[in-house]
Amino acid sequence: MKSLNDMAEAKLEALEKLRLRRSLAVSDRLPDAAVERDGKRLVSFSCNDYLNLSHDPRVIEAAVLATQRYGVGAGASRLVTGNHPLFAELEMRLARLKGTEDCIVFGSGYLANTGILPVLAGSTDLILADELSHACLLSGARLSGAKTLTFRHNDMAHLKELLDAHRGAHPHCLVVTDGVFSMDGDMPPLPELAALCAQHDAWLLTDDAHGVGVVGGGRGSSFAFGEKVPEKVHVPLQMGTLSKAIGGYGGYLCASRPVIDLMRTRARTFVFSTGLPPASVAAAIAALDIIAGDPKLCARPVELARLFCWQMGLPAPQSPIVPVIVGEAARALRLSAALAEAGFLVTAIRPPTVPRGTARLRFTFTARHEPEDVERLAETLQRLMSVEEVA
Ligand SMILES: *Cc1c(COP(=O)(O)O)cnc(C)c1O
Repeated sequence: MKSLNDMAEAKLEALEKLRLRRSLAVSDRLPDAAVERDGKRLVSFSCNDYLNLSHDPRVIEAAVLATQRYGVGAGASRLVTGNHPLFAELEMRLARLKGTEDCIVFGSGYLANTGILPVLAGSTDLILADELSHACLLSGARLSGAKTLTFRHNDMAHLKELLDAHRGAHPHCLVVTDGVFSMDGDMPPLPELAALCAQHDAWLLTDDAHGVGVVGGGRGSSFAFGEKVPEKVHVPLQMGTLSKAIGGYGGYLCASRPVIDLMRTRARTFVFSTGLPPASVAAAIAALDIIAGDPKLCARPVELARLFCWQMGLPAPQSPIVPVIVGEAARALRLSAALAEAGFLVTAIRPPTVPRGTARLRFTFTARHEPEDVERLAETLQRLMSVEEVA
């Protein structure tokens, strides 16, 4: 089909011109927060495996045992025959961690959001989303057919304005946001946000992909607020992924029993998609055991991010994610390449992942990084950026 290939090639060429074409690099992840690329060992500051549980021997052992016992695949949707016995255990533990009545596990975080939102909102309803919400929240909103508006990032006054203007015209309203923003590392003002939603009978959903395991003592963003003693912010819909701090793969929603029961019956990405492999479920259970029992481990990524920010003269971080915004995509690529030369893997993040003109280096810190690595990284980056400014 000539026209098919012509279309693909023309699109790729246009993207290449804008420096927005992407490519895959073979990366062998090593157990200690490093990767090997082209035979070179790089300390990785580009991985969401915040607690390095993907390589933890206890987690690996649980996955191996589950594979030996239950096989490598679930074999069907969980509603058919794919509901192996480990699921109930995992869902119970996630619900306990998040302080909700129940939980449902999906194939991935992306599948979770694209499944959840259309169950909660339909064409007559309203969805209000933070403008920097993760792509899969916005995909879920689009799939729902609900009227969807975005509010300025973390801007509660703007959200209130939209609620005042539009809430009344819709039977239901869902407000969605990341609990920790994936490309910026900041958090929404959850106590204020939850109160505003409650006043307007709007249902709040947080995507805590980057919160669980690393903020709020490992319990996520709902537990990260309050003076001294953390008090739980009431967030009725707490979604997340098993693929970041939890180290494996899968997604979930923690909520009330009726909401979860409705998901089990109606969420299309749950009903019409195969259950997670037993190994993934067992690995997540083992990882949650570690998270529940080791608050020091959970605190470490943010401590290292704090060290980096202090060295770089940046404001104190709220999470293990620290962006250094450099503007143009080409500059981000140049700095990323120079950091690789110096032994660090820091991927350049470009549009459409982030808004145009805000290409950045995104640093993520993990429990296995050494403070010396972080200090050397900050020194190297400062040197590279000052050379660039002179040039
Ligand atoms: C990574 C991520 C997801 C997707 O989760 P997967 O399990 O990788 O599909 C969803 N939301 C946010 C905020 C993320 O960062």
